[in-house]
Amino acid sequence: MNDENFYKKAVAQSEPPHSPQNDHQRSGLRFARRVRLPRAVGLGWMFLPIAAVLASQPIAGGWWLFLVGWSFVWPHLAWQLASKAIDPLSREIYNLKADAILAGVWVGVMGVNVLPSTALLMMMCMNLMGAAGLRLFIAGMVLMVVSCLVTLQLTGITVAFRSAPLEWWFSLPVIVIYPLLFAWVSYQTATKLAEHKRRLQVMSMRDGMTGVYNRRHWEILLRNEFDNCRRYHRDATLLIIDIDHFKSINDTWGHDVGDEAIIALTRQLQMTLRGSDVIGRFGGDEFAVIMCGTPADNAIAAMSRVHERLNALRLPCAPQVILRISVGVAPLTTQIGHYREWLKSADMALYKAKNAGRNRTEVAA
Ligand code: GH3
Ligand code: MG
Repeated sequence: MNDENFYKKAVAQSEPPHSPQNDHQRSGLRFARRVRLPRAVGLGWMFLPIAAVLASQPIAGGWWLFLVGWSFVWPHLAWQLASKAIDPLSREIYNLKADAILAGVWVGVMGVNVLPSTALLMMMCMNLMGAAGLRLFIAGMVLMVVSCLVTLQLTGITVAFRSAPLEWWFSLPVIVIYPLLFAWVSYQTATKLAEHKRRLQVMSMRDGMTGVYNRRHWEILLRNEFDNCRRYHRDATLLIIDIDHFKSINDTWGHDVGDEAIIALTRQLQMTLRGSDVIGRFGGDEFAVIMCGTPADNAIAAMSRVHERLNALRLPCAPQVILRISVGVAPLTTQIGHYREWLKSADMALYKAKNAGRNRTEVAA
């Protein structure tokens, strides 16, 4: 009676190409964007303590140029490189490794001046561990130590751990503010992930076109309701509803009108039935409803109201079409031992309604 593949095909046609490569690229870009702000703020601020150290020692002018480039140009260059890369994630990992190497160079140039070096080390640890876990952290630390040792060796700068008061005052804000900034970025990411998860959960339960439960989730609810109603000896009725001659609506008026008809039927069901009735789309033009606490007579009465509403309903794009439905009704009886038997019983009743000429409601024998 229905054709689930039709909807899947329609969705596939209407959505932009969605390849795993695109997903990988998008998540890589998001990753690079997350690193961008802490890097720009952190390196920009580190200009001050490092400049204070350089000013206190005789050093070639090229180092000043290098410092300006590293503090103010590199964070934006790193973002440009990542955002234009075919694989932004791998590029950003390279950028983070470059960060570690450059930080090691500065620790060396400062003669391992204790406070600015600690601030740099703290930034690198947070970035590396926060971005890609233990492996990148270890790799980054090794690169930082090696580049620091090579710098000390090549420049002949002597190690002097002491920090002057100005270097203290310039380094302390980084040590306080950077973790705060990092925590804020992490919090934003966690909030977005939670929202994504919620949306995915809704998508996995709902039919994309009508918003009612999809078949998979509806069957889970059916199983629960079946168990509850049996345990507490409550009345319950199951209905399967199918549009009559739906193929000819599609063929005559096109699939858009077919879709409109499916949505119109959903709205009529939602408006007529109780909020506690569980409506699901089985796919195609077939729906099912669980009515807990409702005997078959009341369910049939509700369905005749739906029949009446549909008689009066006109689709805006095709006013000549009159939607008719066939309904199979299966009250829960003591003979039914499994929810699938209940479903089968409703399906048989629907079959009876179709065979008896359609546009009617039939109850399972
Ligand atoms: P019957 O009276 O026996 O139910 O006949 P029918 O023509 O309604 O036959 P059936 O229920 O098997 O028709 C289902 C058709 O619904 C087949 C498929 O092309 C179409 N279809 C399935 N899903 C969708 C959809 O999402 N949108 C539209 N427009 N058509 C759909
Ligand atoms: Mg049909």
